[in-house]
Amino acid sequence: MPNRIIKETICSSRGLASCSIFSQDLYKRLITYADDYGRFNADTEIMLARLYPRETDVITQFDINEALVELSGIGKIEFYTSTPRKDIYAAFPNWNEHQRVRDSKKKMPDPTDTSINDWYLRRFVSLEMKIAILEESKFKCGSCGKNLNPFELDAKNLIKMNTGAIHFDHIVPVNQGGRATFENLRVTCPSCNLKRKKTFTFNEILNFAVNCDEDKELAASCGEFPPNPIQSLSLSESLSESLSESISCEQSSRGKQIPYQEVIDLYHSLCPSLPRVKMLSEGRKRLIKARWKEVDGDLNAFEAVFSNVGKSDFLSGRNNKWTGCNIDWILKQDKFIKIGEGTYNDKSGTDNVFLDMLQRGDY
Ligand SMILES: [Zn+2]
Repeated sequence: MPNRIIKETICSSRGLASCSIFSQDLYKRLITYADDYGRFNADTEIMLARLYPRETDVITQFDINEALVELSGIGKIEFYTSTPRKDIYAAFPNWNEHQRVRDSKKKMPDPTDTSINDWYLRRFVSLEMKIAILEESKFKCGSCGKNLNPFELDAKNLIKMNTGAIHFDHIVPVNQGGRATFENLRVTCPSCNLKRKKTFTFNEILNFAVNCDEDKELAASCGEFPPNPIQSLSLSESLSESLSESISCEQSSRGKQIPYQEVIDLYHSLCPSLPRVKMLSEGRKRLIKARWKEVDGDLNAFEAVFSNVGKSDFLSGRNNKWTGCNIDWILKQDKFIKIGEGTYNDKSGTDNVFLDMLQRGDY
Protein backbone atom coordinates (compact mmCIF):
# COMPACT_ATOMS: atom_id res chain seq x y z
CA MET A 1 0.00 0.00 0.00
CA PRO A 2 1.38 3.45 -0.85
CA ASN A 3 2.43 6.21 1.51
CA ARG A 4 -0.08 9.02 1.83
CA ILE A 5 -0.39 12.53 3.13
CA ILE A 6 -2.37 13.03 6.32
CA LYS A 7 -3.01 16.67 7.08
CA GLU A 8 -3.30 18.07 10.58
CA THR A 9 -6.88 19.18 9.84
CA ILE A 10 -7.83 15.55 10.40
CA CYS A 11 -7.42 16.28 14.13
CA SER A 12 -9.94 19.12 14.14
CA SER A 13 -12.50 17.57 11.80
CA ARG A 14 -15.94 17.92 13.40
CA GLY A 15 -17.26 15.04 11.33
CA LEU A 16 -14.57 12.63 12.46
CA ALA A 17 -14.86 13.84 16.04
CA SER A 18 -18.47 12.68 16.00
CA CYS A 19 -17.41 9.15 15.04
CA SER A 20 -16.23 6.32 17.22
CA ILE A 21 -12.50 6.01 17.80
CA PHE A 22 -12.56 2.81 15.75
CA SER A 23 -14.18 4.57 12.77
CA GLN A 24 -11.52 7.27 12.97
CA ASP A 25 -8.82 4.61 12.97
CA LEU A 26 -10.37 2.89 9.99
CA TYR A 27 -10.57 6.19 8.15
CA LYS A 28 -6.81 6.74 8.45
CA ARG A 29 -6.08 3.20 7.30
CA LEU A 30 -8.43 3.67 4.36
CA ILE A 31 -6.29 6.56 3.14
CA THR A 32 -3.47 4.11 2.55
CA TYR A 33 -5.82 1.43 1.22
CA ALA A 34 -7.35 3.58 -1.55
CA ASP A 35 -5.80 3.69 -5.00
CA ASP A 36 -4.25 6.84 -6.45
CA TYR A 37 -7.73 8.07 -7.34
CA GLY A 38 -9.10 7.70 -3.82
CA ARG A 39 -11.16 4.61 -4.56
CA PHE A 40 -11.20 1.23 -2.90
CA ASN A 41 -12.97 -2.11 -2.88
CA ALA A 42 -15.47 -2.05 -0.01
CA ASP A 43 -15.73 -5.80 0.55
CA THR A 44 -15.34 -6.03 4.34
CA GLU A 45 -13.75 -9.49 4.15
CA ILE A 46 -10.91 -8.11 2.05
CA MET A 47 -10.75 -4.94 4.12
CA LEU A 48 -10.41 -6.88 7.36
CA ALA A 49 -7.55 -8.97 5.97
CA ARG A 50 -5.75 -6.03 4.38
CA LEU A 51 -6.28 -3.33 6.99
CA TYR A 52 -6.13 -5.31 10.24
CA PRO A 53 -3.99 -8.36 9.39
CA ARG A 54 -2.83 -8.84 12.97
CA GLU A 55 -6.20 -8.23 14.63
CA THR A 56 -8.57 -10.53 12.78
CA ASP A 57 -9.24 -12.31 16.08
CA VAL A 58 -10.61 -9.10 17.61
CA ILE A 59 -12.03 -6.98 14.83
CA THR A 60 -14.95 -8.30 12.80
CA GLN A 61 -16.48 -7.54 9.43
CA PHE A 62 -19.49 -6.25 11.36
CA ASP A 63 -17.27 -3.66 13.09
CA ILE A 64 -15.89 -2.54 9.74
CA ASN A 65 -19.34 -2.32 8.23
CA GLU A 66 -20.60 -0.21 11.13
CA ALA A 67 -17.63 2.11 10.72
CA LEU A 68 -18.29 2.39 6.98
CA VAL A 69 -21.88 3.40 7.75
CA GLU A 70 -20.60 6.03 10.15
CA LEU A 71 -18.00 7.41 7.72
CA SER A 72 -20.53 7.53 4.91
CA GLY A 73 -23.02 9.24 7.22
CA ILE A 74 -20.61 12.11 7.84
CA GLY A 75 -19.84 12.32 4.13
CA LYS A 76 -16.23 11.15 4.30
CA ILE A 77 -16.73 8.27 1.89
CA GLU A 78 -19.30 7.45 -0.76
CA PHE A 79 -20.22 4.08 -2.20
CA TYR A 80 -20.84 3.09 -5.77
CA THR A 81 -21.05 0.15 -8.09
CA SER A 82 -19.79 -0.33 -11.57
CA THR A 83 -20.99 -2.24 -14.60
CA PRO A 84 -21.16 -5.21 -14.49
CA ARG A 85 -22.24 -4.99 -10.87
CA LYS A 86 -20.09 -7.47 -9.00
CA ASP A 87 -18.34 -5.47 -6.29
CA ILE A 88 -19.05 -2.53 -4.03
CA TYR A 89 -16.54 0.28 -4.21
CA ALA A 90 -16.13 3.41 -2.20
CA ALA A 91 -14.35 6.67 -2.78
CA PHE A 92 -13.14 9.70 -0.91
CA PRO A 93 -15.14 12.62 -2.34
CA ASN A 94 -12.41 15.22 -1.79
CA TRP A 95 -9.41 13.10 -2.59
CA ASN A 96 -7.91 15.53 -5.10
CA GLU A 97 -7.83 18.31 -2.55
CA HIS A 98 -5.66 16.33 -0.19
CA GLN A 99 -3.65 13.82 -2.17
CA ARG A 100 -1.48 14.04 -5.22
CA VAL A 101 -3.23 12.17 -8.00
CA ARG A 102 -0.46 10.34 -9.72
CA ASP A 103 -0.44 9.52 -13.33
CA SER A 104 -1.00 5.86 -12.65
CA LYS A 105 -3.54 3.43 -13.90
CA LYS A 106 -6.82 3.33 -12.01
CA LYS A 107 -7.14 0.16 -9.93
CA MET A 108 -10.86 0.56 -9.37
CA PRO A 109 -13.48 1.06 -12.06
CA ASP A 110 -15.37 4.29 -12.67
CA PRO A 111 -18.72 4.62 -10.92
CA THR A 112 -21.82 3.93 -12.94
CA ASP A 113 -24.41 3.80 -10.15
CA THR A 114 -24.46 5.36 -6.67
CA SER A 115 -27.76 3.93 -5.44
CA ILE A 116 -25.83 1.49 -3.24
CA ASN A 117 -24.79 4.53 -1.14
CA ASP A 118 -28.36 4.66 0.18
CA TRP A 119 -27.90 1.27 1.82
CA TYR A 120 -25.26 2.83 4.08
CA LEU A 121 -26.92 6.21 4.57
CA ARG A 122 -30.21 4.70 5.70
CA ARG A 123 -28.42 2.99 8.56
CA PHE A 124 -26.58 6.04 9.81
CA VAL A 125 -27.38 7.25 13.33
CA SER A 126 -25.78 10.49 14.46
CA LEU A 127 -23.77 10.68 17.66
CA GLU A 128 -26.34 13.02 19.21
CA MET A 129 -29.15 10.58 18.55
CA LYS A 130 -27.10 7.66 19.88
CA ILE A 131 -26.43 9.55 23.11
CA ALA A 132 -30.11 10.42 23.50
CA ILE A 133 -31.19 6.82 22.92
CA LEU A 134 -28.58 5.39 25.25
CA GLU A 135 -29.51 7.80 28.05
CA GLU A 136 -33.21 7.13 27.53
CA SER A 137 -32.51 3.38 27.85
CA LYS A 138 -30.82 3.93 31.22
CA PHE A 139 -27.91 1.97 29.75
CA LYS A 140 -29.86 -1.27 29.61
CA CYS A 141 -30.22 -3.65 26.66
CA GLY A 142 -33.66 -3.06 25.17
CA SER A 143 -34.07 -6.80 24.66
CA CYS A 144 -32.59 -8.72 27.60
CA GLY A 145 -32.24 -5.87 30.10
CA LYS A 146 -28.51 -6.46 30.66
CA ASN A 147 -26.55 -3.51 32.08
CA LEU A 148 -24.44 -2.12 29.25
CA ASN A 149 -22.44 0.25 31.41
CA PRO A 150 -20.95 -1.58 34.41
CA PHE A 151 -18.21 1.04 34.84
CA GLU A 152 -20.68 3.94 34.74
CA LEU A 153 -19.06 5.87 31.92
CA ASP A 154 -20.97 8.74 30.38
CA ALA A 155 -22.97 8.00 27.24
CA LYS A 156 -20.67 9.80 24.79
CA ASN A 157 -17.59 8.10 26.16
CA LEU A 158 -19.25 4.71 26.01
CA ILE A 159 -20.38 5.16 22.41
CA LYS A 160 -17.10 6.55 21.14
CA MET A 161 -14.69 4.29 22.99
CA ASN A 162 -16.55 0.98 23.15
CA THR A 163 -17.54 0.26 19.60
CA GLY A 164 -18.93 -3.22 19.42
CA ALA A 165 -20.25 -3.26 22.98
CA ILE A 166 -23.26 -1.08 22.28
CA HIS A 167 -25.48 -1.81 19.29
CA PHE A 168 -28.21 0.41 17.92
CA ASP A 169 -31.00 -1.75 16.66
CA HIS A 170 -33.74 -0.69 14.24
CA ILE A 171 -36.98 -2.01 15.76
CA VAL A 172 -38.58 -2.08 12.32
CA PRO A 173 -35.64 -3.12 10.10
CA VAL A 174 -34.46 -0.66 7.49
CA ASN A 175 -35.18 -3.22 4.77
CA GLN A 176 -38.83 -3.15 5.82
CA GLY A 177 -39.03 0.62 5.73
CA GLY A 178 -37.86 1.29 9.30
CA ARG A 179 -36.29 4.67 9.83
CA ALA A 180 -33.32 5.78 11.90
CA THR A 181 -35.56 7.80 14.21
CA PHE A 182 -35.60 8.09 17.96
CA GLU A 183 -38.82 6.05 18.08
CA ASN A 184 -37.52 3.25 15.87
CA LEU A 185 -34.12 2.78 17.47
CA ARG A 186 -33.17 1.03 20.66
CA VAL A 187 -29.91 0.10 22.25
CA THR A 188 -29.05 -3.56 22.70
CA CYS A 189 -26.17 -5.73 23.75
CA PRO A 190 -24.26 -7.31 20.84
CA SER A 191 -25.64 -10.81 21.33
CA CYS A 192 -29.28 -9.65 21.30
CA ASN A 193 -28.73 -7.57 18.19
CA LEU A 194 -26.80 -10.22 16.29
CA LYS A 195 -29.48 -12.79 17.15
CA ARG A 196 -31.86 -10.75 15.01
CA LYS A 197 -29.50 -11.19 12.07
CA LYS A 198 -28.25 -7.68 11.69
CA THR A 199 -25.13 -8.73 9.88
CA PHE A 200 -25.41 -8.50 6.14
CA THR A 201 -23.23 -10.45 3.79
CA PHE A 202 -21.40 -8.62 1.10
CA ASN A 203 -23.71 -10.11 -1.52
CA GLU A 204 -26.83 -9.05 0.35
CA ILE A 205 -25.63 -5.47 0.31
CA LEU A 206 -24.59 -5.75 -3.28
CA ASN A 207 -28.01 -7.07 -4.21
CA PHE A 208 -29.68 -4.17 -2.47
CA ALA A 209 -30.18 -2.06 -5.54
CA VAL A 210 -30.65 -4.99 -7.91
CA ASN A 211 -33.42 -6.65 -5.97
CA CYS A 212 -35.27 -3.47 -5.14
CA ASP A 213 -38.00 -3.59 -7.69
CA GLU A 214 -39.32 -0.22 -8.59
CA ASP A 215 -42.33 -0.15 -6.32
CA LYS A 216 -40.40 -1.30 -3.31
CA GLU A 217 -37.73 1.26 -3.97
CA LEU A 218 -40.29 4.00 -4.38
CA ALA A 219 -42.03 3.06 -1.16
CA ALA A 220 -38.70 3.27 0.60
CA SER A 221 -37.82 6.56 -1.02
CA CYS A 222 -41.13 8.23 -0.40
CA GLY A 223 -41.02 9.36 3.15
CA GLU A 224 -39.58 6.21 4.63
CA PHE A 225 -36.07 7.58 4.57
CA PRO A 226 -34.44 8.51 7.84
CA PRO A 227 -34.10 12.21 8.41
CA ASN A 228 -30.49 12.54 7.56
CA PRO A 229 -28.07 15.35 8.13
CA ILE A 230 -26.17 14.46 5.02
CA GLN A 231 -25.76 17.50 2.89
CA SER A 232 -25.29 15.74 -0.36
CA LEU A 233 -25.25 12.33 -1.93
CA SER A 234 -23.51 13.59 -4.96
CA LEU A 235 -20.12 12.32 -6.01
CA SER A 236 -17.26 14.70 -6.43
CA GLU A 237 -16.11 16.03 -9.76
CA SER A 238 -13.23 13.60 -9.81
CA LEU A 239 -15.63 10.70 -9.69
CA SER A 240 -18.64 11.69 -11.59
CA GLU A 241 -19.00 11.33 -15.22
CA SER A 242 -20.26 14.43 -16.85
CA LEU A 243 -23.92 14.87 -16.21
CA SER A 244 -24.85 15.24 -19.81
CA GLU A 245 -23.28 11.87 -20.60
CA SER A 246 -25.08 10.04 -17.85
CA ILE A 247 -28.46 11.59 -18.44
CA SER A 248 -30.68 9.93 -20.90
CA CYS A 249 -34.29 10.46 -21.70
CA GLU A 250 -36.65 7.58 -21.65
CA GLN A 251 -40.27 7.02 -22.45
CA SER A 252 -42.75 7.12 -19.61
CA SER A 253 -45.71 4.81 -19.59
CA ARG A 254 -47.73 7.64 -21.16
CA GLY A 255 -45.38 7.68 -24.07
CA LYS A 256 -44.04 11.11 -23.17
CA GLN A 257 -40.33 11.70 -22.74
CA ILE A 258 -39.26 12.21 -19.14
CA PRO A 259 -37.11 15.34 -19.21
CA TYR A 260 -34.57 14.40 -16.56
CA GLN A 261 -32.14 17.07 -17.71
CA GLU A 262 -34.74 19.82 -17.63
CA VAL A 263 -35.82 18.85 -14.14
CA ILE A 264 -32.20 18.99 -12.94
CA ASP A 265 -31.68 22.31 -14.74
CA LEU A 266 -34.75 23.76 -13.03
CA TYR A 267 -33.50 22.57 -9.67
CA HIS A 268 -30.09 24.16 -10.28
CA SER A 269 -31.52 27.48 -11.40
CA LEU A 270 -34.23 27.80 -8.73
CA CYS A 271 -32.35 26.30 -5.78
CA PRO A 272 -28.83 27.69 -6.24
CA SER A 273 -27.88 27.34 -2.57
CA LEU A 274 -28.49 23.59 -2.48
CA PRO A 275 -26.00 20.84 -3.40
CA ARG A 276 -25.65 20.49 -7.14
CA VAL A 277 -26.51 17.24 -8.85
CA LYS A 278 -23.37 15.73 -10.28
CA MET A 279 -24.70 12.32 -11.13
CA LEU A 280 -28.12 11.12 -12.13
CA SER A 281 -28.28 7.75 -10.42
CA GLU A 282 -30.95 5.15 -11.10
CA GLY A 283 -32.53 6.03 -7.74
CA ARG A 284 -32.87 9.68 -8.73
CA LYS A 285 -34.31 8.77 -12.10
CA ARG A 286 -36.92 6.64 -10.36
CA LEU A 287 -37.86 9.55 -8.09
CA ILE A 288 -38.19 11.97 -11.00
CA LYS A 289 -40.15 9.42 -13.00
CA ALA A 290 -42.57 8.78 -10.12
CA ARG A 291 -43.21 12.51 -9.50
CA TRP A 292 -43.49 13.08 -13.27
CA LYS A 293 -46.28 10.52 -13.48
CA GLU A 294 -48.11 11.99 -10.48
CA VAL A 295 -48.16 15.49 -11.95
CA ASP A 296 -49.26 14.16 -15.33
CA GLY A 297 -46.06 15.15 -17.03
CA ASP A 298 -46.33 18.83 -16.15
CA LEU A 299 -42.92 20.48 -15.84
CA ASN A 300 -44.60 23.54 -14.30
CA ALA A 301 -45.34 21.48 -11.20
CA PHE A 302 -41.61 20.84 -10.75
CA GLU A 303 -40.92 24.51 -11.33
CA ALA A 304 -43.45 25.50 -8.65
CA VAL A 305 -41.94 23.08 -6.12
CA PHE A 306 -38.32 24.12 -6.78
CA SER A 307 -39.38 27.76 -6.71
CA ASN A 308 -40.94 27.30 -3.26
CA VAL A 309 -37.75 25.63 -2.05
CA GLY A 310 -35.59 28.46 -3.37
CA LYS A 311 -37.81 31.06 -1.70
CA SER A 312 -37.99 29.28 1.64
CA ASP A 313 -35.43 30.51 4.17
CA PHE A 314 -35.71 27.18 5.94
CA LEU A 315 -35.32 24.81 2.99
CA SER A 316 -32.66 26.87 1.24
CA GLY A 317 -30.61 26.86 4.43
CA ARG A 318 -30.52 30.66 4.55
CA ASN A 319 -31.69 30.82 8.15
CA ASN A 320 -29.13 28.18 9.16
CA LYS A 321 -31.79 26.12 10.95
CA TRP A 322 -31.35 23.10 8.72
CA THR A 323 -28.94 22.38 5.88
CA GLY A 324 -30.03 18.90 4.90
CA CYS A 325 -32.18 19.79 1.91
CA ASN A 326 -31.17 18.39 -1.48
CA ILE A 327 -32.73 17.04 -4.66
CA ASP A 328 -33.32 13.58 -3.16
CA TRP A 329 -35.21 15.00 -0.20
CA ILE A 330 -37.31 17.33 -2.34
CA LEU A 331 -38.33 14.52 -4.70
CA LYS A 332 -39.73 12.25 -2.00
CA GLN A 333 -43.46 11.92 -2.50
CA ASP A 334 -44.71 13.48 0.73
CA LYS A 335 -42.11 16.26 0.70
CA PHE A 336 -42.85 17.11 -2.93
CA ILE A 337 -46.54 17.49 -2.11
CA LYS A 338 -45.94 19.48 1.08
CA ILE A 339 -43.51 21.85 -0.62
CA GLY A 340 -45.91 22.30 -3.52
CA GLU A 341 -48.68 23.15 -1.06
CA GLY A 342 -46.50 25.81 0.53
CA THR A 343 -46.01 24.07 3.88
CA TYR A 344 -42.44 25.33 4.13
CA ASN A 345 -43.03 28.81 2.77
CA ASP A 346 -41.82 31.67 4.95
CA LYS A 347 -44.43 33.00 7.31
CA SER A 348 -43.94 35.33 10.23
CA GLY A 349 -43.15 33.34 13.32
CA THR A 350 -42.60 30.10 11.44
CA ASP A 351 -39.14 29.61 12.87
CA ASN A 352 -40.56 28.01 15.94
CA VAL A 353 -42.71 25.70 13.88
CA PHE A 354 -39.66 24.54 11.98
CA LEU A 355 -37.64 24.20 15.15
CA ASP A 356 -40.38 22.01 16.58
CA MET A 357 -40.34 19.93 13.41
CA LEU A 358 -36.59 19.60 13.63
CA GLN A 359 -36.76 18.47 17.20
CA ARG A 360 -39.40 15.91 16.34
CA GLY A 361 -37.35 14.76 13.37
CA ASP A 362 -40.40 15.49 11.24
CA TYR A 363 -38.88 17.25 8.27
ZN1 LIG B 1 -29.31 -8.07 25.34
